[in-house]
Amino acid sequence: MKKILFLLFFTAAVFTGCKKEEKSDNPFFNKYDTPFEVPPFEQIKAAHFMPAYLKGIEEERNEIKVIISNPDKPTFDNTIKALEYSGQLLNKVSRVFGPLNSANTNDTLQKINRELSPILSKHRDDISLNDSLFQKVKSVFENREQFKLSEEEKKVLDDTYKDFVRSGAALSPDDKDKLRKINEEMSLLSVQFGQNLLAETNGYKLVIDKKEELSGLPEGVVAQAATMASGMKLDGKWVFTLQVPSMTPFLQYSDRRDLREKLFTGYFMKGDNDNTNDNKTIIAKIAKLRVERSHLLGYKSYADFALERNMAKNPQKVIEFLSKVWAAATPVAKAEASAQQEMITREGGKFKLEPWDWWYYTEKIKKEKYNLSDEVTRPYFKIDNVMEGMFYVANQLYGLEFTKRGDIPKYHKDVETFEVRRNGKHVGILMIDNYPRPSKRGGAWCGAFRSQSRDIKGKMIYPIVTMVTNSTPPASDKPSLLTPDEASTLFHEFGHALHQLLSNSSYPSVSGTSVPRDFVELPSQIMEHWVLEPEVLKVYAKHYLTGEIIPADIVDKLDKASKFNTGFITVEYLAAALLDMEYHSLTEPMDLDIRTFEKTAMDKYGLIPEIKPRYRSTYFNHIWASGYASGYYAYIWCEILDADAFQAFKETGNIFNKEVAARFEKEILSKGGTRDPLDMYIAFRGKEPGIDALLLNRGLK
Ligand SMILES: [Zn+2]
Repeated sequence: MKKILFLLFFTAAVFTGCKKEEKSDNPFFNKYDTPFEVPPFEQIKAAHFMPAYLKGIEEERNEIKVIISNPDKPTFDNTIKALEYSGQLLNKVSRVFGPLNSANTNDTLQKINRELSPILSKHRDDISLNDSLFQKVKSVFENREQFKLSEEEKKVLDDTYKDFVRSGAALSPDDKDKLRKINEEMSLLSVQFGQNLLAETNGYKLVIDKKEELSGLPEGVVAQAATMASGMKLDGKWVFTLQVPSMTPFLQYSDRRDLREKLFTGYFMKGDNDNTNDNKTIIAKIAKLRVERSHLLGYKSYADFALERNMAKNPQKVIEFLSKVWAAATPVAKAEASAQQEMITREGGKFKLEPWDWWYYTEKIKKEKYNLSDEVTRPYFKIDNVMEGMFYVANQLYGLEFTKRGDIPKYHKDVETFEVRRNGKHVGILMIDNYPRPSKRGGAWCGAFRSQSRDIKGKMIYPIVTMVTNSTPPASDKPSLLTPDEASTLFHEFGHALHQLLSNSSYPSVSGTSVPRDFVELPSQIMEHWVLEPEVLKVYAKHYLTGEIIPADIVDKLDKASKFNTGFITVEYLAAALLDMEYHSLTEPMDLDIRTFEKTAMDKYGLIPEIKPRYRSTYFNHIWASGYASGYYAYIWCEILDADAFQAFKETGNIFNKEVAARFEKEILSKGGTRDPLDMYIAFRGKEPGIDALLLNRGLK
């Protein structure tokens, strides 16, 4: 295709002399002529996506035909490599559509997504269930010793072959048909789940019109709520939403127990309101289809299927590990609940602690114990300073430099763009998009408009990385001032960004963050260890008005408080991780009643009634729409790794030890998915990690 385009262009240039290259109206059909070939967001219109997708699919289909009809004996180059480099246009448009649909969506994009999802599902199946193609891949795999492959190429081949098998390539034609139907239905259900969730989140607001109903709320939180109200044309009122930066401070500080209950109930009932956005039927269907799909592919349960290629390998190992941490954390959470109940009684309260009370009494006890609250620390965590702090850490460890650029296209005015360089050489582009808005889904994530790899001729392709958070936005009279948790989230996502930026692979499928779920959080979570290190705080945690460096006594309290409430944090998280495992350990397809299933699952482990799972089923986006099905455990699994890996720095007495950093980059960050995760870890650390550093880290030991 490219050759034909080139010829046309060449002819046109000859005949018209100075006439420039014929350009399509659709930016996806042109080479991006922007700095660093960043997607030209200003020119990209919703109407460009579908034609680009359809053409991309057609191109890839033709490329596959060429691979299949090649009369030569299948080789790594004519089959595996050819597959790796097929579908460039499809990749180009998906790389833009996916991130935009998460971070800046609208009705039109959502509609396109609904239309696309069965088309793409069919297209993927057309490739992975194509028998002629599979026979070629299989032949290369079986004759792999003949091809003198590099370690990376061996991994690419192994992944490709196993992906085909795991996608059903070895099934009978009848079973392939069944699988196709299941895939198509599942992909549609996931899209519906996500759209319902966004509608539920945006559809709720707590409007306050009497000042006395703001009792207990800090000034900054009130200002925030007023700004929110003005934005909704509710001047003179205050609005709280189900977005975390709006909801959490309300739960922490509002003296009005009835309003806390109202807001938190709005949160934990998302998708469970028996209205048009209800997600219960959708997830019951997904859960059932996943069992059917696993059976077709020869696995006992979805978890058995999903975990096979992970570090954990099987569900038993995950549940055993989660149960160990659960056993350590539950008594701590119960003690935390008792301390809160004691405070309620001491204050003359005649009620039992409920889930919507937890943040409020945690905050009060924290204040009593450490005389510390988020409001005391916020002024030291201005978002720009926090970002400077994370850039500083990356500079100390890896020698990276970050320069803000105003000349690079962005998809929303809130986006800040940085060029990343090392020793004067370009490394990549980093976009950061920090504040909540209705067009953005909740949570924080990191992605790439383009991943690092090398093109088919070996020329370096530099990454364009995007980091998205939902951090406390600026108010009318204040810049964005973060909680320590929010600062941690920024460092976390930045860790994923470094994994992308420092990736140094050749093949696209194994670059950057293309690693198993239960390994991918190592590079991100290790970054969280630097956030509250005194040496780092000294550099960035400066009062936003006076420039005063955060006082040592606050740092000390922050350190002590970081082990506070960890029973709750751990149990809340583990409850969701176990819920995920329960859904996906089902060995028979059945029609689930979601409320009953969830309750039974939580009772089985003995979740205390004062704590709700971090995600209830109906808003558990990770497992129904985000690829984390039977993978939510990965965060705490990776904590075994990150706690142990950070020790490697600590043990040298220097958290910026350049030798350890270089080894971390060489063995882990630069490697992407080119090696087995455990091998990478051992190459870095010299040994396997144990669970102790994790328990110590969380103050559970
Ligand atoms: Zn992460």
